[in-house]
Amino acid sequence: MAEKIIFKNSLLIDGQGGAPLPDATVVVSGSTIEAVFPEGAGKSAPRGHVIDLKGKTLMPGLIDAHVHPGNVAYYLHETAALPPAVYVHRVTKTLETDLNLGFTTLRDAAGLDRGFRVAVEEGLIRGPRLFLSVTPLTQADNGEAPSPRNSLGIRPEACHGPEAVRRAARRTLGRGADQIKIFADGEVVSQSKTDKGKPGQPRFSVEELQAAVEAAAEAGSYVMAHAYSPRAIQNCLKAGVRSIEHGNLLDAETAEMMVETGAFFVPTLTIYDLMIKEGAKALDPYTLEKLELVGQKGIAALELAYRAGVKIGSGSDIIGPLQHLKGRELAIKGEVMSPMEAIVSATRSNAELLGVADRLGTIEAGNIADLIVLDANPLDDLTIFESGLERVVLVMKDGRIMKNIIKPAGPQSPHFIGMKGGMK
Ligand SMILES: [Zn+2]
Repeated sequence: MAEKIIFKNSLLIDGQGGAPLPDATVVVSGSTIEAVFPEGAGKSAPRGHVIDLKGKTLMPGLIDAHVHPGNVAYYLHETAALPPAVYVHRVTKTLETDLNLGFTTLRDAAGLDRGFRVAVEEGLIRGPRLFLSVTPLTQADNGEAPSPRNSLGIRPEACHGPEAVRRAARRTLGRGADQIKIFADGEVVSQSKTDKGKPGQPRFSVEELQAAVEAAAEAGSYVMAHAYSPRAIQNCLKAGVRSIEHGNLLDAETAEMMVETGAFFVPTLTIYDLMIKEGAKALDPYTLEKLELVGQKGIAALELAYRAGVKIGSGSDIIGPLQHLKGRELAIKGEVMSPMEAIVSATRSNAELLGVADRLGTIEAGNIADLIVLDANPLDDLTIFESGLERVVLVMKDGRIMKNIIKPAGPQSPHFIGMKGGMK
């Protein structure tokens, strides 16, 4: 049997929202968290490989509930033009980076096919566990078939009428989707030039959305919906959609309705922040015009939802080349929520949203050992998540150490002392 791993002397943020525990010990056996000793294990410490985390913070692996590692360029036609092998390698790099940032679980909001999940599970890709949407459901507002999302044959399902939506949802589940992604509103980054394609323009009737929800429920799953306007969000809520994505134009009435239905809200603030800052050089005038409709409104929507008591998850939604900035989402959330609440949104709340809170999202005995170690206390400064490549010093997934850049304790190396001496 493999040796147990014992993390000791850590500041423990367990993902449940309570005060952090100084000097905690966490024992990992195989792929499972075996025990948590809030005040150190003392004499009851089991034997095993000890990792001393003095001065460091131990917390659950981060979950990003809205990602697009498959959107390697801002525009889908650019992504779709890449040769398949180049595309796969670029996505693989992003998935490896995400793990190094401390994200041990991702929910892909469409684009990746099941091959990526299999490749991660087989260990071919050193990446986070994946919850896939594969082919999103949309409506062809210009009468044309939707363009492909990549060169692997992933193309949105255009469907009109409840029965067509039901069939499209079933086909998507048959392709290995873990949940159904539906575009219930216009989009910022799409090539459609019709008014219906703009953000704030609801797509799909309540009956159509209901058909998707029913098809998902038959398979034990749920629907996540891209929606900005109160109308689009309310249609989704009436239909039983579990997860409202973006929601930038949310109003007070709709926020109340979200509380009543128990739906989750996944604001995606990082992508708008990036597009606003990078947009002038990366985006065309038409896309910038659409960005103007929703881009700045995300924070106000989060504030409204937060004050109303909506369940809030966390998603970065990054498309294009700046995928390594996913951790920024927590810092932006910190402008509205407390640092601990921002962390809970990306751990326990996201686990609840994904339906895996019985095994992921918190550090508790019996859970899967997905853990990360930070070199400081993130409650003092949430921006350290954005520098996760350096500041997340250890990543464990399924009880396996996937990254460890903790400097060994003990006397400084002669090289370092020499350099210091030479500076006198
Ligand atoms: Zn998205």
